[in-house]
Amino acid sequence: MHVDMDAYFASVEQYRNHSELQGLPVCVGHDPKEGKGRGVVRAASYEARNHGIRAGMPVSRAYGLCPDAVFVRGDFQSYVDASNEFMALLREFGDEGRVRRASIDEAYIEVTFTCKKYEHPRELALEIQTTIKNSTKLPCSVGIAPNMSVAKIATGINKPMGITYVPQNPLEVVRFLAPLPVDALNGVGKVTAKRLQRYDIETLGQIQQMSVAELWPIMGKGSRWLHKRASGIDERPLVDNGPRIRRSISKDRTFLEDVEPEAVNYLHETISKICDRIAEKVKKKALQFRTVTVKLRYADYTTIQRSRTLPVSTGDVDMLRRVAREIFDKKRDPDRAVRLLGVKVSGLSENSTQMCLTNFL
Ligand SMILES: [Mg+2]
Repeated sequence: MHVDMDAYFASVEQYRNHSELQGLPVCVGHDPKEGKGRGVVRAASYEARNHGIRAGMPVSRAYGLCPDAVFVRGDFQSYVDASNEFMALLREFGDEGRVRRASIDEAYIEVTFTCKKYEHPRELALEIQTTIKNSTKLPCSVGIAPNMSVAKIATGINKPMGITYVPQNPLEVVRFLAPLPVDALNGVGKVTAKRLQRYDIETLGQIQQMSVAELWPIMGKGSRWLHKRASGIDERPLVDNGPRIRRSISKDRTFLEDVEPEAVNYLHETISKICDRIAEKVKKKALQFRTVTVKLRYADYTTIQRSRTLPVSTGDVDMLRRVAREIFDKKRDPDRAVRLLGVKVSGLSENSTQMCLTNFL
């Protein structure tokens, strides 16, 4: 089963933080300042979506579409708290408590055995939905399928508070996927979809009809992956990744002796090394980060921390090194000796595209 919270940040605002906002178009994002504000909508309630507002849209545009929408800044900690609550509930339903968090508002649950206690898997899905709604006040949608890839697609078919069931039979799986657009697959982004479109390939059904050899000139090494997933094949076992959301990964280095400000190369080198160690951990945990923070402690113990948030999440070590170094160059006081250097990445999310097309293209 794949469980995805509906309009997550906006729902937490409407049902938990500000119940007076229920039924209203709500956007989580920067103040649009009557259309002159900058920044993007991070989440939109379904009422806001009815006005054409979408997550990722500039707030100025959202304001234009619906000047009456309520804009709230958002409270990330409350989203993390709610997430920990419903993840714990999901754990009660999984076989041996097996749950795989995919992001703050999404998880896979292994229910092969639990399902057998119900007449139909839909009943289990409904019970999960009801339990989450009663206990956390939040709506979610559920996809039930023979594997993670298909379950995730199923969840998106019917939202909010939807349940979509794809039977185990491989023929039914293939039939379910066939009419869907190629980018319904988790891991097929805009770039890949465009590339396929150039060859008039729009649906997963078309890919099912092709051989890997026929796909090869278009997708290269990604062909085998794409063909499998389009055909509903996903052999990944559901591996539990622990109960809590990790907020950040950081490493620092305290120098035995204060480093003189002129030793820039040495300081740069140290940053690079710290970044390498962080990137290793990020990769091992199959995560991505959005925010990079550099911490600097000077010889007199004054400490500064400066951050930059990237437009998109990444797990790329070169990007991490470059951003950390830029922050360091820009923010450090070039006259003061350095006692400690640290780097932190936060805004972590599961690297869902790992082992998929972006690795091959
Ligand atoms: Mg969601």
